[in-house]
Amino acid sequence: MGAEADLVHAPLLTYASMLSLLSLCPPFVILLWYTMVHADGSVLQTWDYLRQHGQQGLIDIWPKPTATAWKIIACYAAFEAALQLLLPGKRVEGPVSPAGNKPVYKANGVLAYVVTLVTYLGLWWFGIFNPTIVYDHLGEIFSALIFGSFVFCIFLYVKGHVAPSSTDSGSSGNLIIDFYWGMELYPRIGENFDIKVFTNCRFGMMSWAVLAVTYCIKQYESYGKLSDSMLVNTILMLVYVTKFFWWEAGYWNTMDIAHDRAGFYICWGCLVWVPSIYTSPGMYLVNHPVNLGVKLAIFILVAGILCIYINYDCDRQRQEFRRTNGKCLVWGKAPSKIVASYTTTTGQTKTSLLLTSGWWGLARHFHYVPEILGAFFWTVPALFDHFLPYFYVVFLTILLFDRAKRDDDRCKTKYGKYWKMYCDKVPSRIIPGIY
Ligand code: NDP
Repeated sequence: MGAEADLVHAPLLTYASMLSLLSLCPPFVILLWYTMVHADGSVLQTWDYLRQHGQQGLIDIWPKPTATAWKIIACYAAFEAALQLLLPGKRVEGPVSPAGNKPVYKANGVLAYVVTLVTYLGLWWFGIFNPTIVYDHLGEIFSALIFGSFVFCIFLYVKGHVAPSSTDSGSSGNLIIDFYWGMELYPRIGENFDIKVFTNCRFGMMSWAVLAVTYCIKQYESYGKLSDSMLVNTILMLVYVTKFFWWEAGYWNTMDIAHDRAGFYICWGCLVWVPSIYTSPGMYLVNHPVNLGVKLAIFILVAGILCIYINYDCDRQRQEFRRTNGKCLVWGKAPSKIVASYTTTTGQTKTSLLLTSGWWGLARHFHYVPEILGAFFWTVPALFDHFLPYFYVVFLTILLFDRAKRDDDRCKTKYGKYWKMYCDKVPSRIIPGIY
């Protein structure tokens, strides 16, 4: 089991950060929503309120998870689960797991994404369901998600102990680590319903697109028109999520799916943190219809799309390289590579290719640069009156710098001298020549 391997920071720091994230993330989600929706996006205003009212202030603003909130979540989750199970899709094999298994998936993400957005817009257009209801109950929905997802993580913990779906499962012997990092690599319900595909892709990432559209509709219905800042923000977020679903089968090869186990970190993060924090620049813009003017709006839009494209191209390059076993062109030339061998937990020796040219020759995690810049460009339409819309960009930067370190440490353990060869050839971790 990889829990020890996950302890790439000093154990004390790891436990402290796990406990703080477990206890601080839920109130943070509520405070962010409250500030965006009820305190004009001003951290100072919320801070003043909390100073005056203390702990009771937080309790007072924490919305109760109402029946409406539960109904919205249940309908959405059931709809997404049904699409995941029922829509047709190509059979795709995931990467070989540490225990030597090869999980099989059904690639129907694009179809599920199109059906979801068309259904949502159709419900609005034909007057069956108004998305502004979602915005008006957002606090209650986040509150219900916080508690519901926590219970869901307990279910994952118990399932990992009593009914694991594969041999890629196990306990670290520590309850907090097992709950936080998870026990199973790819838990399933039955043979076909992959829980991480549901939590990460079909619930989490899909909610990002659904909420982006919701914020747009809410601003339109409140002000009778749509500001260009909201338009740029929504288009960029939708381009990003569309890119995600276009490349979803590739995502099943990434750390989130292939290395991180199903626990609080990944699953609670995707069920709660993604819908609330990742969408927050749009949440802010609902009540702040900034007017950018055509030139600035187009400049931000083009710059954002370029960053999202480069990020996509980095992922595509790596996956194409692995899929063709290095027999492809990278930036018009045969790729330079390292043939690395490693041993699985069951003692089998396998080989893997490391690409050392193209984007992957600039820095070992260069793809995080356009990821962060893309997020900056869909936030900057909010301009600079308040800091809070930028929280996601700051959070993402910290997350990805930490992730690059975790990934480097994991790859060093996995590939040993071959990883060192890669580091010698490509010394920068994220920013070429700087870091
Ligand atoms: P990836 O999984 O795409 O890349 C890391 C893995 O790729 C390594 O663990 C290693 O796995 C393999 N690898 C590393 N170097 C090479 C190389 N030179 N050649 C070939 N394979 C290599 O990383 P992420 O999961 O972090 O990122 C995937 C995407 O998701 C990115 O676009 C990223 O920006 C995005 N992302 C977004 C986040 C968000 O919150 N918005 C959070 C995290 C990621 P192996 O064991 O197979 O060798």
